[in-house]
Amino acid sequence: MSSVDKQLDDLKAEIDSEVPADITVSDVTYEGPELVLYTPHPKQFARNGDLVRNLASKLRKRITVRPDPEALSAPKAAEDEILSVIPEEAGVTDLDFHQDTGEVVIEAEKPGMVIGRHGSTLRDITKQVGWTPEVVRTPPIESSTVSNVRNFLKQERDDRRDILERVGRQIHREEMGRDQWVRISTLGCCREVGRASFILSTAETRILIDCGDKPGAEGEVPYLQVPEALGSGANSIDAVVLTHAHLDHSALVPLLFKYGYDGPIYCTEPTRDLMGLLQLDYLDVAAKEGRTPPYDSEQVRETIKHTIPLEYGDVTDIAPDVKITFHNAGHILGSAVTHFHIGDGMYNVAFSGDIHYQDTRLFNGAVNDFPRVETLVMESTYGGRNDYQTDQADSEEKLIEVINETYDKGGKVLIPAFAVGRSQEIMLVLEEAMRTGKIPEMPIHLDGMIWEATAIHTTYPEYLRDDLRDRIFHDDENPFLADQFNHIDAGEDERQEVADGDQCVILSTSGMVTGGPIMSWLRHLGTDPDSRLVFVGYQAQGTLGRRIQNGWDEIPVNDSYGGGRSNTLSLNMDVATVDGFSGHADRKGLMDFVKTMNPRPEKVLCVHGDERSVQDLSSALYHEFNMRTFAPKNLETFRFK
Ligand SMILES: [Zn+2]
Repeated sequence: MSSVDKQLDDLKAEIDSEVPADITVSDVTYEGPELVLYTPHPKQFARNGDLVRNLASKLRKRITVRPDPEALSAPKAAEDEILSVIPEEAGVTDLDFHQDTGEVVIEAEKPGMVIGRHGSTLRDITKQVGWTPEVVRTPPIESSTVSNVRNFLKQERDDRRDILERVGRQIHREEMGRDQWVRISTLGCCREVGRASFILSTAETRILIDCGDKPGAEGEVPYLQVPEALGSGANSIDAVVLTHAHLDHSALVPLLFKYGYDGPIYCTEPTRDLMGLLQLDYLDVAAKEGRTPPYDSEQVRETIKHTIPLEYGDVTDIAPDVKITFHNAGHILGSAVTHFHIGDGMYNVAFSGDIHYQDTRLFNGAVNDFPRVETLVMESTYGGRNDYQTDQADSEEKLIEVINETYDKGGKVLIPAFAVGRSQEIMLVLEEAMRTGKIPEMPIHLDGMIWEATAIHTTYPEYLRDDLRDRIFHDDENPFLADQFNHIDAGEDERQEVADGDQCVILSTSGMVTGGPIMSWLRHLGTDPDSRLVFVGYQAQGTLGRRIQNGWDEIPVNDSYGGGRSNTLSLNMDVATVDGFSGHADRKGLMDFVKTMNPRPEKVLCVHGDERSVQDLSSALYHEFNMRTFAPKNLETFRFK
């Protein structure tokens, strides 16, 4: 008998001795990090309100109870009973019964009302029908990404269960040795921005953290071939942990599956959906530019299928000697500061991923409070000694001023923006400014992936800033549903119509004017001296956006939006830049993150910034807080224990 089977037998014996005599547990098994209990008596389980919680704390496991098939009422009868238990205002839009696991997935506009106080309505459902309810939110704005991911996972249910069972046995395997050590190897994003990737290894376990590309330098990928990464085979890695969906952190995750990786990807649920959206777009862009992408959509699907979503604050076993916990990072939807608890507290490491320390309109500021942490691996994008950003309130004032000036001249405002994060931030600023009369009411057109990314944001309001979340919970106050927002979904004809029409604001991808529908908008509006192009995000070296900022007024337009024609456009429209809407902490934010961090780490690795930024930040942290700091290069290894 394998050690995992023995462990499950012991757990079953312990559970049998804990549950009341009228409840039988027929089987226990692992599915990913969770312990699953099968029972012919699901209703009795539900009646004993605290039973599952008590078992979970006693066994120190996350527990799911599933009914044996014979304990279930027929789906048709169950459907009527379930709908009679759930208050009508919950707005149930779909019920999906899975006979094999006894689960019923309930999609509702107000999931909170299906769950009830402390899960009371969920328990009522099981008490009535025996089925185990699982609740998901109906997106307030229809999202093809969310529905594609949900349908795909539904269709791959059997495969997914096999994966989860295999991963579960991997996580709970017997530890091999008594050696205890911790190392981190840097595979990318050191003294550079892009291709984020690290390996955290212990005597027992290897974990890959992030696996991104380097925008503008497609050939430069993380050093995955080193022995502690894929060099000893794709499946010598136990798990992949993803801090957020941006491509410089996630683009090359599907490549791992092409190399034969077959293990889990841990991230938050919104990161999973955004990652799918961005990776498919990454393939699309490569195809349009005539490049051969390193993988195809089949590997994106494998990635989604292998993803185990975790919520902020869930302490989760991902290996025999490693637990992780995600915390809000304030950077983009679902972004996570990730805490690693190693060897029963032997060592603790936090990876910041990308962070924003202050609250923004979209997100609460990054969490920096942990039970313990000895080493922090921290981003340094704006770590340079002069990298201070304008206060957001001032930036908003300036944006409003620019829009009013353009309106008075009779022109249109064109804002190139990244689909994820900055667009939604700007949408919130504009919605409020119009609602409070600071700018005149006019249509705000959203082009490219912005609408879809916004729909994903509204699907996961619990990941947004508290007051914004509360407004989305009340449909009539959901700012993203405001009347002035219009989704450009009819292509060129609609753009032409908008360009010929009245004053308006247009938000369009790509954020650095490197392709996408913004090229078409420049063609339509670029020659109009009354209109204005307004940059609200960072424009990297070498991008058309940066060139226009630097005064270029003859711009090449030769992508697919120009109908394949290659020609030059004279830019007569005004160009303005409004700084301060970054998703990254500036120098002060980074220093404050460490200053107020609880507990203060002993060591900090400054990564994810250009040479000067990491050096500056590393030396400032050392002088200010007297801690050991490093500005590693790629391919370095640090031993911590
Ligand atoms: Zn990022």
